[in-house]
Amino acid sequence: MMGSYIEIKKKKFMQTIHYYLLSGLFALLAISCNNSNAKNKENDNTKKSVNMKFEKVALPYATDALEPVISKQTVELHYGKHHQAYVDNLNKLVVGTKFENADLETVVKESDGAIFNNAGQILNHNIYFTSFKKDGGGEPKGKLADAINEQFGSFEKFKEEFNAAGVSVFGSGWVWLAKDQDGKLSILKESNAGNPVTSGLVPILGFDVWEHSYYLDYQNRRADHLKEIWKIIDWDVVSARY
Ligand code: MN
Repeated sequence: MMGSYIEIKKKKFMQTIHYYLLSGLFALLAISCNNSNAKNKENDNTKKSVNMKFEKVALPYATDALEPVISKQTVELHYGKHHQAYVDNLNKLVVGTKFENADLETVVKESDGAIFNNAGQILNHNIYFTSFKKDGGGEPKGKLADAINEQFGSFEKFKEEFNAAGVSVFGSGWVWLAKDQDGKLSILKESNAGNPVTSGLVPILGFDVWEHSYYLDYQNRRADHLKEIWKIIDWDVVSARY
């Protein structure tokens, strides 16, 4: 009698253990299902929020085409990483704002804060990276050449003034050649993400004086970088902006 009582107790005990083990297993399954659902949901949201509306301009030359003025490594980092980061940031930042369906120039003109900083840098770098070509250099063409000669005396004098402005930008920023609606040219110094469009002007040529644009190739020698960069300008493209 005693033996069978113990057997029954044992059986009941084992049934209880099985019950708890099975419940535990179901609970684990339920949790893991929920997790994978949550993950899928997260992926959907990420896809939705990064709509890739804003894109960087295609590079119109190989990454080593600007050597030795700008190294392949600098182009890869500057175009591939820095410029890409501005694009990725803006695509996330505009979600749910009035800029979600605006064109890039409108965003630059009407925004401030983080949206302005990233939008400005996309516009700046799109202009910058399309201003160069392999074996570029030489002098401006057509009406732009005439306007530069008329306003600055000569191309050489313009370059001097432009480089002096670029050297004197304190910290990170840009030096721009821009035109107003009457075609009058001006040299502008902008800090950080500044672009002449915010002053109602049309950007013609912009040199990036953020350290990321020259530090690997010239270290602290910004002036040397600015002297060299004229050797890679694509004056067909730049003159057509005038
Ligand atoms: Mn840059």
